[in-house]
Amino acid sequence: MLGSGLIKGLAVTAKNFVGSFHDPERLVTLEYPEQPAKVAENYRNFPFLVSESADDPMGTLRCVACQICEKECPPQCIYIEKSKAKKPDANGKLQLFPAVFDIDISVCMSCQICVEVCPFDAIKMDQHFEIAESDRFNALLLRREQLAKPNSYFHQIHPTEAAQVDAMLAEAARKAAAAAAAKAAAPKPAASAPAPAAGSTRLAAAQSPAARPAPPAAAPRTEPAPPPSNPA
Ligand code: SF4
Ligand code: SF4
Repeated sequence: MLGSGLIKGLAVTAKNFVGSFHDPERLVTLEYPEQPAKVAENYRNFPFLVSESADDPMGTLRCVACQICEKECPPQCIYIEKSKAKKPDANGKLQLFPAVFDIDISVCMSCQICVEVCPFDAIKMDQHFEIAESDRFNALLLRREQLAKPNSYFHQIHPTEAAQVDAMLAEAARKAAAAAAAKAAAPKPAASAPAPAAGSTRLAAAQSPAARPAPPAAAPRTEPAPPPSNPA
């Protein structure tokens, strides 16, 4: 029948319109910004630095300033300066840390390569997208204090990945503790006599009776022949 498709489409629209009053799943629009937009778990925009504690983000950064991400970033928008001295990380191990860690997010292209190459799971992709600023040069150059966010935030935005990372780090810590305990329990080798110097080895060998050449065998002693007697 001519126009049946139109009537069917209008029926679907009317069904969703009425249904949206009692079923929130049928709502396709949001009253943004009063109503925050919910993004998918895999959504990403710019990187942030993971810290172990929300109370001391600068003291518990996972980053050890190895600078791999800085080298690998395609548009070179990461800038890092290593600390001169080490300080204890969240596990009490002495580590270097980034004295300066800046990311120019006006240049960042959200490729996530910095995350992929980080050996310490110290940098992850954020989902915060309300970053509009009027100052392009200063406001979009994020310092380490702005980049640091706690692991609890990572769990909030990427729960699946954060749980996997926690499990991996716990397993690595367990293996390291087991290896340290095995090393401490291993018997120490007995103290050996100091090795002689190279020159003295040859000297000692030369002085050894076994090494000395045997003296030549003594020739058999012969009695001198008697003088010839005079003929009578
Ligand atoms: S997401 Fe890509 S462009 Fe952005 S800082 Fe990381 S490596 Fe650089
Ligand atoms: S974020 Fe990771 S790769 Fe980059 S400097 Fe820190 S530890 Fe190294």
